[in-house]
Amino acid sequence: MEQTLILIKPDAIEKRLTGIILSRFEALGLEIAGAKAVSATEELLRKHYANLAGTPFVDEVVRFMMGDYNHLPDHRIYAFVLRGENAVSRVRAALGATNPDKAEPWTLRGQFGCVKNGVMQNAVHASGTPEEAAREIALWFKPEEVLA
Ligand code: UDP
Ligand code: MG
Repeated sequence: MEQTLILIKPDAIEKRLTGIILSRFEALGLEIAGAKAVSATEELLRKHYANLAGTPFVDEVVRFMMGDYNHLPDHRIYAFVLRGENAVSRVRAALGATNPDKAEPWTLRGQFGCVKNGVMQNAVHASGTPEEAAREIALWFKPEEVLA
């Protein structure tokens, strides 16, 4: 069964959207195999977004993911491992386009995202490919924190 990594980003946490976002994945029949609240460090986020290294916006994206643009008491991010048939592509379809201004209105990013402070504050991260999912799950979770 395929697995994928979901991160509830600080903009969505601030807007209290965690439950609504999770309910959409539950409605797709996906199983929660791992769940945790993480105090995200800059080091972890730079590893997570290694593909953005060298882009002009990577620093802003890392600051956003550390909660700098939102009103949170700490650097919290909620991380989930979801499992199910074609979990990666089905979750990405539920998210919509990276840019919330271009995301279809029925998608999570289309409904809950915005572009602010030069960053696409798009509510939720999901792995783009099964290979990316394996790398990201290993980054955010210890093996014993994910159901066998
Ligand atoms: N991002 C941004 N501006 C860009 C590209 C990316 O603010 O031009 C941010 C955005 O929050 C995005 C994240 O960096 O979700 C990771 O970028 P990626 O291209 O991997 O998009 P995703 O896989 O999240 O759709
Ligand atoms: Mg990506």
